[in-house]
Amino acid sequence: MLTANSINEAISALFGPSVTAVDRQRVSGGDINRAYRLELSNGARVFLKCNRHDFLGMFTAEVKGLEALRATGAIGVPEPLAVGTDGAEAFLIMEYLSPAPRRPDYWEIFGHELAALHRAKCGPRFGFPTDNYIGSTPQQNAPSDSWAAFFRDRRLLPQMELAWGLLDDRTRRSLTSITERIDSLLPEPAFPSLIHGDLWSGNALCGPDGKAWILDPAAYVAHFEADLAMTELFGGFPNRFYQSYNEVTPIDRSYPDRRDLYNLYHLLNHLNLFGLPYLSNVSSIAKRYA
Ligand code: ADP
Repeated sequence: MLTANSINEAISALFGPSVTAVDRQRVSGGDINRAYRLELSNGARVFLKCNRHDFLGMFTAEVKGLEALRATGAIGVPEPLAVGTDGAEAFLIMEYLSPAPRRPDYWEIFGHELAALHRAKCGPRFGFPTDNYIGSTPQQNAPSDSWAAFFRDRRLLPQMELAWGLLDDRTRRSLTSITERIDSLLPEPAFPSLIHGDLWSGNALCGPDGKAWILDPAAYVAHFEADLAMTELFGGFPNRFYQSYNEVTPIDRSYPDRRDLYNLYHLLNHLNLFGLPYLSNVSSIAKRYA
């Protein structure tokens, strides 16, 4: 992975000393960063994300996640090309995904490929070699042999600590009860899975091949159900996607009982990032599992 001291330096190192950026078009859709399509003098295009200097760590973590997902070869993931700082800004340059029409079997292939990702060889322990981010919140990934303990210690507890001052007593008690009974709520998976970690619909894009490519990961080794649950948090994907997933890896009949518990992590994170509109959702789910 190239590290550069300016965007121009990165482009010259990647494409040759005479190549420069000739146009920069804003791309909308991101939550956190400013995103652009850069047109280069050699006719190539790259995707550029920028933010303040102190976002370099976030971009570096994103690169590690993209590289880990790409290494499986299971599903389309844009290639990270360079990270660095440019004056007061941090940047990440990656492969640009040209828009294309979706294949008619877009959702079927997406289901098969996500299941293949989750079946790819990965480390036996839950976690990831480095910490990363969920949105802009740090996400701890120190390894654990137990999925339930990992989800309690590295997912629920850090978010609960951040949210504590926003919670009423009843929700606090419910969440504490969940963490105390986590072993009975979350079974260990039959196999560990490298998951995307933040797979809402905005983090999947139709790539130039007409298939789904996955972006902006918060990757770690987990129970694959955690990825499926996130796809359902804000509306869900079409049934065809889940049916196709199920053809590769059967989704356990009791998975729907756990779905909101996995998503409690994301909802606590949304409460921490975006505030009180997420409180009633957190409270009602916490109450249900307590
Ligand atoms: P943020 O880090 O701010 O959440 P994203 O990674 O989600 O930003 O990217 C913002 C938007 O840019 C996405 O919604 C998507 O539409 C588009 N996008 C992301 N990556 C690429 C890419 N490699 N090629 C083309 N468009 C992309």
